[in-house]
Amino acid sequence: MNKNRVEKMENIFVPKSGQRLKTNRYMLFTCIFVLLLFAGLIAYLTYFTIYEASAVITSPYNKRTAALKESVTRGSIVSADGEILAETKKDDEGNEYRYYPYEHVFAHVVGYDSHGKGGLESACNYEMMTSHESLSAQFKHGLTGTKKSGDTICTTLDTRLQEKASDLLSGHRGSIIAIEPKTGKVRAMVSRPDFDPNLLDEEWEDINSEGSSVLLNRAVQGMYPPGSTYKLLTALEYIEENPGTYSDFTYKCKGETIVNSVRIRCYGDVEHGKENLTSAFAHSCNTAFVTIGCGLKLKRFIDLNQRCLFDDKILFDLPVKKSRLGLGPSSKGSDIPQAVIGQGNTLITPFHNALIMCAIANDGILMKPILTDHIESVDGHVVSTTETEKYKKLSHPSDAIILQKLLRAVVTKGTGRALDTEEYTVAGKTGTAENGKEEDHSWFVGYSNVDNPDLVVCVLVENGGAGSEVAAPMAAEIFDAYYENDLDEKYLKPENQGEK
Ligand SMILES: [Zn+2]
Repeated sequence: MNKNRVEKMENIFVPKSGQRLKTNRYMLFTCIFVLLLFAGLIAYLTYFTIYEASAVITSPYNKRTAALKESVTRGSIVSADGEILAETKKDDEGNEYRYYPYEHVFAHVVGYDSHGKGGLESACNYEMMTSHESLSAQFKHGLTGTKKSGDTICTTLDTRLQEKASDLLSGHRGSIIAIEPKTGKVRAMVSRPDFDPNLLDEEWEDINSEGSSVLLNRAVQGMYPPGSTYKLLTALEYIEENPGTYSDFTYKCKGETIVNSVRIRCYGDVEHGKENLTSAFAHSCNTAFVTIGCGLKLKRFIDLNQRCLFDDKILFDLPVKKSRLGLGPSSKGSDIPQAVIGQGNTLITPFHNALIMCAIANDGILMKPILTDHIESVDGHVVSTTETEKYKKLSHPSDAIILQKLLRAVVTKGTGRALDTEEYTVAGKTGTAENGKEEDHSWFVGYSNVDNPDLVVCVLVENGGAGSEVAAPMAAEIFDAYYENDLDEKYLKPENQGEK
């Protein structure tokens, strides 16, 4: 009985030699399996450290945005008159989001901080994610583990001009731009149709699917035939080729003419009668300008266009599409009549057209156009200031002064009479650009205070009709808004200018 008991107990507690071997094998396999798993993990970590991690760290996108987003709150964008145009706020759960108080008004120029970014949000991304806060503030952030505040972009934009321009283009497609010709400071840049950057996430699909290209900044990316605004360059070439005799030009307009086998009519089939250069320009006489243009030296004229930034990259805070001259060394005679009055294959951006006018208003010198006046730290110290600088000489000063007189006559006795007021003086040029079978595009480009130019305004209304009836009255309203306020007190100046 007892013996049996002991045997049973042996059966329970002492395995036989075959069973012991089985158990040892099982443990060995388990150990090898765990070791293999461990080795695999080490191998993966080593691989990641050497290859994947270095790719993650060296990617400029991740390096800048991911790392900076952890430690810096994106800075604001403000207008020249001190209004906030874009800022970072926090929702109830503490998540940061971008807020645009003016909603659609600055949509294209200020841009958006999602869906690939646009406008100044894209152009000044790095500056807004960089912080120049005081050392004490940075120390405090270090101690409390809170984020630093990114720098503020202080733009040249004027909220009153921008709002006025946006209102004027309501219901239209087109663009309005205002630039100070003596400094290159862009005071307004509106493109319609537009969008509300606050609602970009919700409306992204609709915005992208609409055929009217809502996201396109028509000011710098829209390409249009310049129409009669282009007669400025045809006149400039004529003056350059005939320095002593340009004022002797006479012509008798009969409302239409045939040059190089091309029939050209004056707008509205008007017969302008006997003209000189000033009256032909003031009335925007097509037949006179085709006659002038077809007598020009083609090679010289192409050179002049290139000097005036056609087929050229324009340096600016935002990307600008290259305007296209519809003439080349191999152009046929029949290409010239349309080209010299701004039709044919020539296409220009409204921004480029505004810059040509800036140069003429500024006696031939184009100042570099700018959107950023200066950059400040969140505590108000100036980090950097954009110096105004000469960009390019488009014409000789004496030729620019002749053109200024032609442009003034457009307003006092020509197609720009919508701008003839006693409050201030304006010089400029209208344009009614033919556009295939669609309604004409409406242009005005000109400047105010002719003896000491203050502001260039360029208006383009797609399919708007006559420049004299649509674009010119809109420009008059922009100038009105500009002179409503005292110029000296108009814009905020950086308080500690000169600090770097
Ligand atoms: Zn005519």
